[in-house]
This record gives sequence, structure tokens and C-alpha cells, in this order.
Amino acid sequence: MFGNLINLIETDEHRLLRETVRKFVKDKVAPRASEIDEKDEFPEDIFKEMAEIGITGILIPEEYGGFGDDVLSAVIVLEEIARESASLALSLLAHSVLGAHPITRFGNPEQKKKYLPKLAKGEMIGALAITEPDAGSDNASITTIAKEEDDKFIITGSKIFITNGSIAGLVILYAKTSPEKGKDGISAFIFETNVPGFSVSKNFEKIGMRGSPTSTLFFENAPCPKENLLGEKDKGFNILVKCFEVERITIAAISLGIAISALEWQIRYSRERKQFGVPISEFQMIGEKIANTTAELEVVRTYIYLLAKNYDVNKDNRVESATAKLLAGELGVKASLDAIQILGGYGYTKEYPVERYLRDAKLMDIGAGTSEIMRYIISNVMLKKYLV
Ligand SMILES: Cc1cc2nc3c(=O)[nH]c(=O)nc-3n(C[C@H](O)[C@H](O)[C@H](O)COP(=O)(O)OP(=O)(O)OC[C@H]3O[C@@H](n4cnc5c(N)ncnc54)[C@H](O)[C@@H]3O)c2cc1C
Repeated sequence: MFGNLINLIETDEHRLLRETVRKFVKDKVAPRASEIDEKDEFPEDIFKEMAEIGITGILIPEEYGGFGDDVLSAVIVLEEIARESASLALSLLAHSVLGAHPITRFGNPEQKKKYLPKLAKGEMIGALAITEPDAGSDNASITTIAKEEDDKFIITGSKIFITNGSIAGLVILYAKTSPEKGKDGISAFIFETNVPGFSVSKNFEKIGMRGSPTSTLFFENAPCPKENLLGEKDKGFNILVKCFEVERITIAAISLGIAISALEWQIRYSRERKQFGVPISEFQMIGEKIANTTAELEVVRTYIYLLAKNYDVNKDNRVESATAKLLAGELGVKASLDAIQILGGYGYTKEYPVERYLRDAKLMDIGAGTSEIMRYIISNVMLKKYLV
């Protein structure tokens, strides 16, 4: 039966986590989901409540007050939240997966002790900044500079489309410390935003993921203490590439959440809506859409759960994480489009949430590496692998 295979992958702890998050989402998020979208405001109060039940601490080890560094738990939490509000899930992802996880994986003991407990409790919001106005898919071509000066680095440049940019107290920042060395001259920093020389634009007006703030960050000789260098100098690109793996697996979970809700609407509405004297679910062309969404969702979801569960078994998850993101991202869009089609004229209105699903789902073809870049990663590796 649908969903049975993931039961073989989840543990009892995972199931308990899902139940807890689902109840929270049903009670606290569902009633506010369309308001978050309409007002395009980050729901600080809900985030605080998320901190109270511990889920702002996903991907943070328990010894630092987090939920544990388990990728599958993060997938479950994000999928459940995204079933009602993908934008809230995206902001949680930017906080924990993009902001905290690099510190968990690459931080030294002092950095972990200083930042992870605050991030786990949601006292400080996290974000990540690599993209620049002229460096998107080609992230090695960033031009933000970090110049060493006494006991600090001085940062100059700008970063665009940064999720949580206007609310973050901490940003994992990528900048060039040795510009002449290209990607081998990039370093990663734990940048605290409460310093002179740092400013933020107003939030972008987006078609979807509304309520998850996205903005431009400006660094004009902004200081970052030397002890906040993450990993080694000039080795930041390796951190970026490794962290992209977990980012892509978990962002795929947001697409899964949207696809599950879209499928639920496809089923619910088609059973209720009657045309030609019968429920439209009796028409084979409607059944075909439901079957396709179900089949694709089952396969992609099972793949993502297996990948998340075994994340630490594989040393290199680059192709697998690109595959997960590519397939889930496109599935989220297709499932939402099919839900709109099944709802007919109503699907095209704001009376039902399926139009929001489509607007939200489309981001996952773009953010964290576009679908074209995911295909590039997969084909590039396969072409090299099988080159005789
Ligand atoms: C809502 C939102 C939130 C975001 N959050 C963050 C964040 O928190 N932190 C962050 O650093 N960034 C963030 N981003 C940025 C995001 O990761 C980039 O937008 C994305 O990587 C694409 O870069 P770009 O927009 O510059 O597009 P471009 O790289 O300019 O691409 C434009 C088009 O060209 C295609 N293209 C580019 N190169 C190739 C190629 N080699 N082969 C084939 N096609 C190619 C792309 O696929 C795309 O279709 C966010 C973006 C959005 C919209």
C-alpha cells in the first residue's frame, strides 16, 4: 500500500517525531498558512513555538541542545511542515540546514559551543549566503572579498536572494580570501550580522514562498573575527559542496510535502465533484493523473528516505542528492499543476490552496541549484564514470 515502504526505513522514533510535528502543524500552522502567504510575513510566533517543541534544533547534535544530527529526522520534519506551509519549511531549512548544519559538520569545538545552542533554541536565526548578483549557478565566480587585517577579516561585497536574510543573526558566508585562486580561494565564515558595515535590502516580492523573507545582503568593510573562519582558509568550496548534499536532500523533502498535499486534493476533490451525473474520479483521465502522482511520489519519496537514512554510509552523495532534488522538485510542480487541473476553474482561484502549492513548488526547480544544474551534475559524473 502507498507509504508502506517508508515504514521499513523509519524507526519508531521517526514515527513519533512525525506524529508530534503533524499535530503541531495541524493545530498551529494549517490555520495560518494562507494568511502567511497573503501577508508575506514571517510568522515569528510560530517559529518560537517550533523552538519550544525542539524542531528548530534539527541537524544539531543533542549535546548542543539540538534534535540530533540525523538527516532523515530533518526530512520528516520539513515534509510535514511543507504539507501546510512550504514557506515556513523553507525558512526552517535555511535556519537549521543552511545555518546550523555547516557548523555541526565543520565547526571547531569553540564555534559549536558558542553558536549551536542558540541556534537550536531558535534564539538566533541562521541563513547561508553564497549567491551574488553576478554569480548564481557558477558559484565559484563570487567576488565578495574577505581581507585579513589583524585579528579579523574585512568583508566587502553583496549577496542576493538570501533566505532569512532580513531576520538572521548568523549567516554562513562564502567569500574569496585568495581571489587569484578561483574556487580554491574561497573561505567559509560564521558571520554575525550585528556589526557595522552590514546592511540588508527590503525583502523581495516573490510569486511563491511568501512569508519566507528573501533579501540582498550588503557588506561594506564589515568585520568578521578570525576565530569565525569555518574550516580552513581557502577550503570553503569543499564545505559548500558537501553541505549542498544535505541541502538538496532536505529541500527535496519540501517538494515531497507539497506533492503529498496536492495528491490529497486531487483525490478529495475528484471524489466530491460531480459532472455528467457521476464523481469526476470515475473518469479515467482523472484517475490517470492520480495514479501518476501516486506512483512517482512513492518512488521518489522512498528514494529520498533511503538516501537520508544512509547519508553517513556513503562518502559522496553528490549525484544522489542532485537526483533527489531534481526528481522531487519537478514532481512538486507537476503534482500541483495536476491538482489545479482536477479542480478545474476552482483550481485557478484562491479559494483553494492548490495555486499556492504551484507557486511554492516552482522554487525547488531553481533554489539550491537549478534543475539544469542538477542534470549537469548527474550527466557529468556519469559521462566520466563510463568513459573508457
Ligand atoms: C526564493 C529564493 C531563495 C534563495 N535562497 C538562497 C539562499 O538562502 N542562499 C543563497 O546563497 N542563494 C539563495 N538563492 C539563490 C539560488 O540558489 C539561485 O537563484 C540559483 O542557484 C540560480 O542562480 P541564478 O538565479 O543566478 O540563475 P543563473 O545561474 O543566472 O541561471 C539562469 C538560467 O540559466 C541556466 N543555467 C546556468 N548555468 C547553466 C549551465 N551550466 N547549463 C545549463 N543551464 C544553465 C539556469 O539553470 C537557469 O535556468 C535563492 C533563490 C530564490 C529564488
